[in-house]
Amino acid sequence: MKKKKYTITSKTIDLDDTYDVIVVGGGPSGCAAAISAAREGVKTLLIEATGCLGGMGTSGLVPSWAPFWDQENIIYRGIAEEVLIKSKENMAHVSKDELKWVPIDAEHLKRVYDTLVCESGAEILFHSFLCSVETGENGLVSEIIVSNKSGLTAYKAKVFIDCTGDGDLAAWAGAEFMLGDEESKELQPASLCFVLTNVDDYAYQYGPRLHNSNLQSPIFEMMKSGEFPRIVDSHCCNQMVGPGAVCFNAGHLWKIDNTEPGSTSQSLIEGRKIAKEFQEALAKYQPKAFGNSFLAATGSLMGIRETRRIVGEYVLTEEDYLQRKGFYDEIGRNSYYIDIHHSEHESSLETIEGFDWEKHRARYGAGESYGIPFRCLVPKGLKNVLIAGRNVSCDRAVQGSIRVMPACLVMGEGAGAAASLMVKEKMVNTDLCGPNIKNLQKLLLDRGAYFRSNETL
Ligand SMILES: Cc1cc2nc3c(=O)[nH]c(=O)nc-3n(C[C@H](O)[C@H](O)[C@H](O)COP(=O)(O)OP(=O)(O)OC[C@H]3O[C@@H](n4cnc5c(N)ncnc54)[C@H](O)[C@@H]3O)c2cc1C
Repeated sequence: MKKKKYTITSKTIDLDDTYDVIVVGGGPSGCAAAISAAREGVKTLLIEATGCLGGMGTSGLVPSWAPFWDQENIIYRGIAEEVLIKSKENMAHVSKDELKWVPIDAEHLKRVYDTLVCESGAEILFHSFLCSVETGENGLVSEIIVSNKSGLTAYKAKVFIDCTGDGDLAAWAGAEFMLGDEESKELQPASLCFVLTNVDDYAYQYGPRLHNSNLQSPIFEMMKSGEFPRIVDSHCCNQMVGPGAVCFNAGHLWKIDNTEPGSTSQSLIEGRKIAKEFQEALAKYQPKAFGNSFLAATGSLMGIRETRRIVGEYVLTEEDYLQRKGFYDEIGRNSYYIDIHHSEHESSLETIEGFDWEKHRARYGAGESYGIPFRCLVPKGLKNVLIAGRNVSCDRAVQGSIRVMPACLVMGEGAGAAASLMVKEKMVNTDLCGPNIKNLQKLLLDRGAYFRSNETL
């Protein structure tokens, strides 16, 4: 249906022009970007729509960190490593040296981000939503408009960093973007994560593994029973996140587009029903562990895997992934596999004839990774906007790999450091969006980052 249009009549609103760098979106990429910029002494504001930091890792209740290593060494370093170490401090059942699928205590992680961001000197505005962007013809964003309990406020800064996950700022500033599969327009399915408490720890740990890689998992019986119509596939990742508390990333919802609020709203309502069905099904099919379980929480953010991919100065491709490519302007490396969750059609095949889970999943061997070029963080045509997180410039396959939180932390740190240098090097208002690459790489290497610089390529 064609939308009707309305022109906002003249309205004068407050303007705040006191910040050098403004980061929008306080997920892993936004937190790292704000910390990174503020640590360099530039005045930084972090604007977040919800009431806490962490994005999908906290409000979204994602159960665990994707692996922090390349099967040999930790490769997500700097701020990413700091966050990982601190996030493990509260978890008695997790080894200090663990790097693979480290479980997340979401409440603890919120405080970790609060502390790191506040200590960096960055300021935070919660419950504040980016709702419009003013862009000049030269590709320079002059102001962003934010709505919160003060009404609308305009913010002016030297550099803006878009960490909204959906590329809201860059897209509204006029940047070109891609959305999902180019031909079918299909997006990866969404999942609403949830936490069950009062789980029997012993029975959970020593009972059948629930993940669908275990062919004995009760998930298959739950599906086939027909008693739980919302459990339509075997996707069922789970982690013990605290005493008697197991967090689930389970179930799928297709045709959800987070850039359409009506679509996300419906998916949250449906997601909560799916979570309750999982609790009931688990209580029945794995009673020793879940017989007395209690559905304690569902994510307040829908689990969105894919929306806009902003077109940047470089588009990272599947071919780059397959070649384990290095770049002269790397700011980090990623070794996570291409993890594209199956389509609705593929899911329907699973119940009839089984499903080839590895089809989409080109995996690396030990020590292998690909470079993340700084140019993927630079939206084409914009002069003072950087992007970080799952909305960076790449093709669909690479988005399935780069979207995980360790990589988002690394990209956020790179964007924040670049923004601070752009302010210091007075690069804003020039034709180049970005600092001197050597200076950026030196700054990141001094902080312990891992990538292959021009000299080592
Ligand atoms: C179901 C699911 C399971 C996953 N499992 C894992 C896993 O096990 N391990 C892993 O490492 N990764 C996992 N991921 C991937 C990972 O969690 C996300 O891709 C990652 O968090 C993206 O980080 P981000 O900073 O780009 O965005 P997000 O984490 O999405 O954060 C974006 C933030 O921006 C805010 N925001 C958005 N729009 C606006 C606006 N207009 N104004 C103000 N604020 C705004 C949001 O409130 C949010 O806090 C999973 C993802 C999903 C969906």
